[in-house]
Amino acid sequence: MNIRLSRRVMGLEASPTLALTGKAKELRKKGHDVISFTAGEPDFDTPEHIKEAAIRAVKEGHTKYTPVGGMEELKEAIIERYRKDHSLEYAREEILVSCGGKHSFYNLCQALLDPGDEFIVPAPYWVSYPPMVRLAGGVPRIVHTREEEGFRLTPERLKDSITDRTKAVVINSPSNPTGCVYPPGEIEELVRVAIDRGVLLISDEIYDRIVYGEVEFVCAAGVCDGARENTVILNGVSKSYSMTGWRIGYALGPKGLIEAMTRVQSQSTSNPTSISQWASVAALKGSQQCVEEMVREFKKRRDMMVEGLSSIDGISCVRPQGAFYVFANVSTFFGRAHKDRAIDDSTGFASFLLDTGEVCVVPGAGFGDDRYIRLSFACSEEDIRRGVDRIKEAVGLLR
Ligand code: GLU
Repeated sequence: MNIRLSRRVMGLEASPTLALTGKAKELRKKGHDVISFTAGEPDFDTPEHIKEAAIRAVKEGHTKYTPVGGMEELKEAIIERYRKDHSLEYAREEILVSCGGKHSFYNLCQALLDPGDEFIVPAPYWVSYPPMVRLAGGVPRIVHTREEEGFRLTPERLKDSITDRTKAVVINSPSNPTGCVYPPGEIEELVRVAIDRGVLLISDEIYDRIVYGEVEFVCAAGVCDGARENTVILNGVSKSYSMTGWRIGYALGPKGLIEAMTRVQSQSTSNPTSISQWASVAALKGSQQCVEEMVREFKKRRDMMVEGLSSIDGISCVRPQGAFYVFANVSTFFGRAHKDRAIDDSTGFASFLLDTGEVCVVPGAGFGDDRYIRLSFACSEEDIRRGVDRIKEAVGLLR
């Protein structure tokens, strides 16, 4: 049978971050000594006390449906964390627990956007924002930021990008892929513009705990009067507690919107996995030392990777202040070639690195800036050392 796919899905590309992570793993399985800088997840194991909570949940029979929007125990744990960490008060009706941070953003788009509604997405952006906006019928309005400005959206550029169709703007701080962290004052300015212009601010704070001390992280919902009512916070346990496979994300925001997002979820996935929800209660309520230890490790690796890359002629990068990615400018190599292979863009550069140096990176094209590549330092120091050496050797071949 000749199946005609929906128009909606025909233009939909697969997530390049997931595709390349899969490709690197596959090559390794086949025996290739590939060094992968693609991972969008911490390489640490999920802490023991969290795993034990999950095992206990299974044994105690917590294996049935939970309320669609998440168990009361988990919502209470989220409320407690926001009270402790950010002095913000949320009610259960203002929280929706979903199957990962990505799912939270998906539900949001479905509940918020009508055909033609615009959603401001500063570039470089996380690969999945524009596709999810489009799937909901919305129009992603890409606003380019500059490396000299630390890849941060300025209030002026936000103002200039708002039209009468603008529904929302997404800020991702700390950012995937650039690692930039907005200083508190800048977040406040953006929030004030959003309030003033009647635009909802979506603050994706999934990397909130992974910051290296240079810039203080601040939750956008608490920066000024009126912020909480005009902001949706997206977060989850994936990155902070090394729980990517458990699929638990959550949204905190205005009651009416959260209720609508919960309806979307009730007609699609229902509740996220009950066992993962119990594990997440343990993550949020238990000792936070595991997070601090992981961040300390990441900081060492960040410095090692930034120093290594900066020592290579032709590569430049901004030192990330959060998350675990370096976004490196490789555009000086465009127009050069090795043998009969010419490098013209980030995709060509990434495949040259893979074929010549057996190093896997994600091209910047998927993040909205083709001059860059993204390198994750969620891998061993040994891999960083060897990988950077290989990159140096490979680009040395380009003429
Ligand atoms: N957020 C991670 C990344 O950017 C996970 C993969 C994905 O969902 O795109 O690599």
